[in-house]
Amino acid sequence: MSSLRFLRSRCSLRLPAAMLRHYSLDASHPLLRTQGYVNGRWLPAASQFPVLDPATGEEIARVSDCGPEEAKQAVDAAYEAFHSWKRNSAKERSIVLRKWFELMMLHKEELAELITYECGKPMSESLGEVSYSASFLEWFSEEARRVYGDVVPSPAKDRKILLLKQPVGVASIITPWNFPSAMITRKVAAALAAGCTVVVKPAEDTPLSALALAELAEKAGVPPGVFNVVPCSREKTPAVGEVLCTDPLVAKISFTGSTATGKLLLKMAADTVKKASMELGGHAPFIVFDSADVDKAVSGAMASKFRNSGQTCVCSNRFLVQSGVHDAFVDKLGRAMDAELRLGHGSEPGTTQGPLINTRAAEKVVHQISDAVSRGAKVLKGGKRLDGSFMEPTLLVGVTTEMICTKEETFGPLLPVIRFNTEEEALAIANASNVGLAGYFFSQDVSQIWRVTEALEVGMVGVNEGLLSTPEAAFGGVKQSGLGLEGSKYGIDEYLEVKYMCFGGLKP
Ligand code: NAP
Repeated sequence: MSSLRFLRSRCSLRLPAAMLRHYSLDASHPLLRTQGYVNGRWLPAASQFPVLDPATGEEIARVSDCGPEEAKQAVDAAYEAFHSWKRNSAKERSIVLRKWFELMMLHKEELAELITYECGKPMSESLGEVSYSASFLEWFSEEARRVYGDVVPSPAKDRKILLLKQPVGVASIITPWNFPSAMITRKVAAALAAGCTVVVKPAEDTPLSALALAELAEKAGVPPGVFNVVPCSREKTPAVGEVLCTDPLVAKISFTGSTATGKLLLKMAADTVKKASMELGGHAPFIVFDSADVDKAVSGAMASKFRNSGQTCVCSNRFLVQSGVHDAFVDKLGRAMDAELRLGHGSEPGTTQGPLINTRAAEKVVHQISDAVSRGAKVLKGGKRLDGSFMEPTLLVGVTTEMICTKEETFGPLLPVIRFNTEEEALAIANASNVGLAGYFFSQDVSQIWRVTEALEVGMVGVNEGLLSTPEAAFGGVKQSGLGLEGSKYGIDEYLEVKYMCFGGLKP
């Protein structure tokens, strides 16, 4: 069966029969690379693993399945390269990163195609991800030249006190599939700007974007060993992860992914006391107060919930709506879902909702819906799984805090609405979680805006805004959502250490 027919059979509810793809991915794709990239060379491996289009289940490429040996080679190469890369001036590193940014923008469409085919998101979102991803190279190419130390007033007349900032060394970078390009550059741009070198292990589902980044890095003049990529299958991931988190030559690990995996990696890294950054799971509350502009709240909810079919760590996961605006919000939201959401292959124009990354992800959403319904929630829109990993965008009302969907991250297009009466009640529900990444609320009461912003136990707050990621701002969570920050002027500090220099014996 052709992939298009296969897809139509899955999504026939919404796809016009004559719809044709405008984009394609085949072996002639200019940025399709299928081997690991170590020390400036493409590295074959003894075996390959398949990369699947999550919309059709079709194999789109076979990629070298790197193991612990290749990971060790990459660490050694990165360690070797660190000694020369750190000696480049900040301006030299900045020029290379800037060039890499320009190449990404030049190849925006090709990079976006890779994202759509391996991760499933619509082309419009993939193009957005490429720009977002490239913007970290641009931002940190600028920040590279602003790594200032301090000259501190000394208590002794014969001494000067200086605080120098130096790169930590080799950084292991482990990334998820939901932003296969941006989660890499958000870390790597800061690392390289600081003078560190890196070994990247992308997710099994999405190695192609990482390898395309390596191709462009080489073209931009990133020297051999500075940026290495070791793709691997899920079977080899634990062994590769062990090398990346325990090798004594690695000084730092930076991970984005689930909280459970983050804890595992932190434990492994503890033996050699590595510096660690963790961007982990979220469970974002989205609160609509009686004072809100309901139309704006609906737009914010659509943007924050349905991006990447609900598969982002900052996607709103629990919708708390105050009684006075509850019915109006739910009514308008249902209409917006009907009008704006369209399921399909990400490469087809007009698609806003691609598949979930795999069938397990769809099963998780179905499980949360049936649990909620069995406890009294009502399905107002959607509710069903289509074939494969496509999931109908779903609106649930009458949701209570006993239901699983209000306790666990969904990572799918499920929008559960909890009705509340008071601000205190909303804050208690919002903060009853052991993670705290993003939170959103809509209100036009200035005092309430300050009160709620300060009270929410999250690292990022969207006030009357459903989208907040940008390289200029600090991205990171509190509680079990992580450690450290990415982007902003703080992101580069994760790859630097402060060395105290006491310059003594001076004649006053
Ligand atoms: P995941 O299962 O934790 O996987 C993330 C990465 O870790 C993948 O590359 C995975 O490799 C790897 N991994 C798994 N076990 C490992 C091990 N033992 N050693 C080394 N690496 C290992 O997470 P996911 O399901 O891909 O991503 C979804 C999660 O990421 C959600 O919880 C989401 O909230 C979170 N996320 C957080 C942020 C943030 O900035 N806070 C951003 C995006 C996503 P394999 O692919 O081979 O399993």
